[in-house]
Amino acid sequence: MECARCDGLMVTDSLIDIQESSIPMWMKGWRCVSCGNIVDPLIQQHRMIQRAGAGRLLETESAKPRLRHVA
Ligand SMILES: [Zn+2]
Repeated sequence: MECARCDGLMVTDSLIDIQESSIPMWMKGWRCVSCGNIVDPLIQQHRMIQRAGAGRLLETESAKPRLRHVA
């Protein structure tokens, strides 16, 4: 695996997650040995979900333009 930032070598690393929950949780992630960029599989998943959610919101907005003048 190559770093998205600097194309450097990435190695598996143990990451501790203290933001997602009150209980610290260890997980496997990727860390770039060149620039220190960390790729967290859970964060990547969240970003994908957020992008999908934002896309759905935009679709919903454009699908209901007629309701604005009803009230
Ligand atoms: Zn890097």
